[in-house]
Amino acid sequence: MKYSTEDVLNALSQVNYPDSGKDLVGLNMIESLKIDGHKISFTIMLPSANSPFKNSLKKAATQAIQAQVGAEAEVEIEFLSRVSFGRVNIESAKVLPGVKNIIAIASGKGGVGKSTVASNLAVALVQGGAKVGLIDADIFGPSQPKMLGVEDERPKVMKIDGRNRIEPVMAHGIKLMSIGFFANPEDALVWRGPMATSALKQFINDGLWGNLDYLLIDLPPGTSDVHLTIVQEVPVTGAVIVSTPQDVALADAIKGINMFRGDKINVPILGLIENMAWFTPAELPDNKYFIFGEGGCKRLSERLNVPFLGEIPIVQSIRENGDKGTPSALDTASITGIAFSNLAEQVAHRVAERNATAPATEKVEITNTTGCAAH
Ligand code: ADP
Repeated sequence: MKYSTEDVLNALSQVNYPDSGKDLVGLNMIESLKIDGHKISFTIMLPSANSPFKNSLKKAATQAIQAQVGAEAEVEIEFLSRVSFGRVNIESAKVLPGVKNIIAIASGKGGVGKSTVASNLAVALVQGGAKVGLIDADIFGPSQPKMLGVEDERPKVMKIDGRNRIEPVMAHGIKLMSIGFFANPEDALVWRGPMATSALKQFINDGLWGNLDYLLIDLPPGTSDVHLTIVQEVPVTGAVIVSTPQDVALADAIKGINMFRGDKINVPILGLIENMAWFTPAELPDNKYFIFGEGGCKRLSERLNVPFLGEIPIVQSIRENGDKGTPSALDTASITGIAFSNLAEQVAHRVAERNATAPATEKVEITNTTGCAAH
């Protein structure tokens, strides 16, 4: 009996992508399906080259086909990776043409490690083969130039077609723009309000970003005018929320999630990341101390029905590497490097899932901001 494309796709729609309620067909991951006698070959298009799931997917897909299509089927699977588009017509877009996905990194409270997570996530996404940009919009403490080791550099301004354009600084493969490049860190507070807003608009509109898979935006903690500027200026694909498991941090994370989910803004939440999840002393590697409480973000993500993207422990080297400008994610063999790589994989997957299941994002039109800029 000849195998049919429909039967093969039916079998593959029984195979879920790990940690996701969605199947390979629903996620648009199956491409180049060919059937030649008993040979069935296809490509599984992954959201990142570093996916740890290749072996398990291969096994599950082969089993599903042999069980449902034919026991003698010979299944050949190729794995490739491509980042999907969170926006339509990006080449002709007026704002950030060439940028596939714009991801806001937010937190309810300051000091929970949002910037640390943003820089390490950016590095880990680069390591997964993606083209990544980062806008440091944290006007209260623009720390990305230091965390990425380019404190002494400045973006170049050049005139192109009579217009001033800004070339982002390259740091560990990431295109970086930061308010910190234009302000003395000691008087960063002067950047609050309108000046920060206009600087950000310039980064977005005049930055030479080129083609990017992901542009991450490291937002200030809490909810602010900067958040409103960003969602009005660019179509945000989704937001990632960073929190510690501590109750006070979680209470503020809820406010942040509600702001993005509110009617006026309506930016999808890609998920919640738990930072400072536990501490393990180097001399007692089997011990975990849950300094800020245990499992708080996981419980919150279940309660609010947002994906849980993963957890990062408290590790002295994460702080040290941040201070040195060499994010821990650069060392892919280390435990922390692996943790950030898993996180990047989860973020890439959630972006792919969002793009496969929801319409492309648009900029937010806010005519009356009352009620949005809650503090
Ligand atoms: P935020 O952006 O939320 O204000 P930061 O990223 O600036 O927070 O982090 C605050 C401090 O905590 C920094 O000194 C940073 O190095 C440190 N830090 C953040 N995450 C971790 C972690 N997982 N382990 C150890 N130190 C961390």
